[in-house]
Amino acid sequence: MFDVDNIRAEFPALDRTVHGKPLVYFDTAATAQRPLAVIEATDRFYRRHNANVHRGVHTLSQEATDLYEGARRTLASFINARSEREVIFTRGTTEAINLVANSYLRSRLGPGDEILVSHMEHHANIVPWQMLRDATGASLKVIPITESGELRLDELESLLSERVKLLGLVHVSNALGTVNPVAEVCRMAARFDIPVLVDGAQALPHLAVDVQKLGCAFYCCSAHKVYGPTGIGALWAREETLEDMPPWQGGGEMISKVTFEKTTWNELPNKFEAGTPNIAGGVGFGAALEFVERVGVENAAAQEQHVLEYATERMNEIDEVRIIGTAPGKAGTISFTFGDVHPHDLGTIIDHYGVAIRTGHHCTMPLMQFFGVAATARASFGMYNTREEVDVFVDALLKARDMF
Ligand code: PLP
Repeated sequence: MFDVDNIRAEFPALDRTVHGKPLVYFDTAATAQRPLAVIEATDRFYRRHNANVHRGVHTLSQEATDLYEGARRTLASFINARSEREVIFTRGTTEAINLVANSYLRSRLGPGDEILVSHMEHHANIVPWQMLRDATGASLKVIPITESGELRLDELESLLSERVKLLGLVHVSNALGTVNPVAEVCRMAARFDIPVLVDGAQALPHLAVDVQKLGCAFYCCSAHKVYGPTGIGALWAREETLEDMPPWQGGGEMISKVTFEKTTWNELPNKFEAGTPNIAGGVGFGAALEFVERVGVENAAAQEQHVLEYATERMNEIDEVRIIGTAPGKAGTISFTFGDVHPHDLGTIIDHYGVAIRTGHHCTMPLMQFFGVAATARASFGMYNTREEVDVFVDALLKARDMF
């Protein structure tokens, strides 16, 4: 049985106060708070098992390797990969996308070719493609969205062609909460053999992700959005795809044999993991996924929906609030403007009531341009948030309104 009080007890940071008020943490889309399971797994790793992985014959090194590789297996099963060889650990979603841009797409792209992305992408799923475009003479095309923040599938239809060499799409928008119809887009793209890269940074904590069912070519994620540590994430792709791709960074770990004349590459997944990895981060990532599995992704999502519905209802009572992103079935994120008040001022004022929200462009400047705003305020929810916290947040908004 999901009990939000029990869940909250797992997150020590939720117990603290800010400016003398109980913390209301509505910034989970930026980074989630960490449960004890993750804090303790990382702590235990450093206290007992700390050693470098893969090359050691001594006990600690073998333990560290088992823990790190165990986390890879946990992630593989969490997203229903066929094997852990399909899971490459990276620093996060951003690095996973850059890996695909440089190892997969760079050599396949030339003048006249196209890369497609949607208007609601995070900069992480725009800038690496722009850099490739500028280096190769290809072009970057944009799939339009509607005023409610949904993908225009009719427009996508006409943008698809043999010229498109990759389509990049966010699964759940960090700025709008929109959940994109990824499987449908993959089916449409498949008619032209276009590989789809899915930016899953925001999806893992909210949806049951099955990479085989989605039909995408690449899936990218970050541990810290799913209650795990920062500085670790992953790229998933099919083994055949990864086998065909050259390494993108050289160094230790990714080699099989090195001479000054020639180097041969290690097997998957190590071929793409040059240098000492973020071992403790990996261990924490595995612990986070096991924690989410214990809670149940569907239970976490139901709690977020429960809070989202109430927050939307309460915020709509305030005349100054304009909610940006109203797609049906969206995830627990509310972007909004507040009359003429600059979002930074609003965020600073409500911080004094203990409420943490994010303000700014949320790394989605083209999306802000689409909605004609420079920035928004954003409240985003995790499995630990409650309706009572929404009341504190709305009271803080009303007090802020009285100040202007
Ligand atoms: N994509 C989306 C939708 C995000 O929300 C984020 C992080 O905010 C990223 C990509 C980048 O993730 P990271 O900074 O962990 O690499």
